[in-house]
Amino acid sequence: MDGKLHLKNFTEILVDESINKLWGESTSDCRCDRCRLDVKAIALNKLPPKYTVTDKGEVFAKLNSFKNQVHVDVLKEVVSAMEIVKSKKSHD
Ligand SMILES: [Zn+2]
Repeated sequence: MDGKLHLKNFTEILVDESINKLWGESTSDCRCDRCRLDVKAIALNKLPPKYTVTDKGEVFAKLNSFKNQVHVDVLKEVVSAMEIVKSKKSHD
């Protein structure tokens, strides 16, 4: 092997994408790194992981097909995680 293989959790990649999309929308909530990671942790705990071994060439095709299947679930969990973090911040 030449070391180009990676272990990826596609669910985590999609959660990151969704947070990136939604993070800037509201200005009233806290947008610090701590709250962002809290949102990510809560969403990832609710969603099944999807680990795949891949090299860079095939990752996007696989990711897109997986994304079509779970996109709605991922968005739903991210939105609900943001509500949870907003109502119960883990810092002052
Ligand atoms: Zn915060």
